[in-house]
Amino acid sequence: MSLNHVRPWRDIYRRKSRQIMVGNVPVGGDAPIAVQTMTNTLTTDVAATVAQVQAAAEAGADIVRVSVPDEASSKALKEIVRESPVPIVADIHFHYRRGIEAAEAGAACLRINPGNIGDEARVKEVIKAARDHNCSIRIGVNAGSLEKHLLEKYGEPCPEAMVESGLEHIRILQDNDFHEFKISVKASDVFLSAAAYQGIAEATDAPIHLGITEAGGLVSGTIKSAIGLGNLLWMGIGDTIRVSLSADPVEEVKVGFEILKSLGLRHRGVNIISCPSCARQGFDVIKTVETLERRLEHIKTPMSLSIIGCVVNGPGEALMTDVGFTGGGAGSGMVYLAGKASHKMSNEQMIDHIVEQVENKAAELDAAAEAAE
Ligand code: SF4
Repeated sequence: MSLNHVRPWRDIYRRKSRQIMVGNVPVGGDAPIAVQTMTNTLTTDVAATVAQVQAAAEAGADIVRVSVPDEASSKALKEIVRESPVPIVADIHFHYRRGIEAAEAGAACLRINPGNIGDEARVKEVIKAARDHNCSIRIGVNAGSLEKHLLEKYGEPCPEAMVESGLEHIRILQDNDFHEFKISVKASDVFLSAAAYQGIAEATDAPIHLGITEAGGLVSGTIKSAIGLGNLLWMGIGDTIRVSLSADPVEEVKVGFEILKSLGLRHRGVNIISCPSCARQGFDVIKTVETLERRLEHIKTPMSLSIIGCVVNGPGEALMTDVGFTGGGAGSGMVYLAGKASHKMSNEQMIDHIVEQVENKAAELDAAAEAAE
């Protein structure tokens, strides 16, 4: 269930899945829904890849995936794993040796489809390597690369074909007594993806990795992901998510968190509630929010801030936020603390002042959380 249980119309009942570990991050069961992204640097460029992993982790990524297309990348992976603050998933396609090398290099999880890596002996070798190195596996079914026999059977990529593909890969792992796996059934089409995910959610209790593949650029991909992943999460489906964008991995993490935040499934950083602004605004709302978003990026404590142009909605929104500012007249506005009008502040000094108030509140909340532990 989400954290909003005080208001039943906001409750989300999560599908009960098994829990697995991706390194030190639990995925499934009642674990928080993990946010993932993937690097887009050359894996062999260790410094650039580590920098990207660190930036993603700083933005909140719980897990980061790295492509391992060749032997040189497997070697680089070892160093990347050593430097990474979060568990690394190795993305493997077809080549079973890469899977073994990645497990040996310390990958926390292999993204690999056991049905696509060759004969039984090879599959067994990869599974053994995963088991020996405490490495979980993600089965990654993709509508764009379904097995030939399923395309022949179903005529085109469809939810049934994707579910069947997933179950075939699952069976291989289970036949080898390997159960530390999660599964994704991605498509770039929102409808196809959502239907396939609903099907697989019913057919297995494995944790589910959600994603809309090749979703597009920052704006279009964000919207597609918010609709596709948002609907599934709302239904209670999904234990870890990756928003795929043709954009910086940090943006993927931010969007992933915003989707989870919108549904009350996870909380991180400052949730800014702001009005769209209009002729009544007592200060430049849009510029202020842009600046505050940037200036408050370092805050990880979950809290809320309302930035509202005028008294039409300002006091009401401020009631429900930790810190608030409502535009008034004559170049100043009202600062609200814990829902109550506190003091006036000039528009010129308001940004620095709000940053300070938010930092103070975050420190206060952190101290309270620590004391409660
Ligand atoms: S809160 Fe005030 S400034 Fe903001 S959109 Fe509404 S009326 Fe306009």
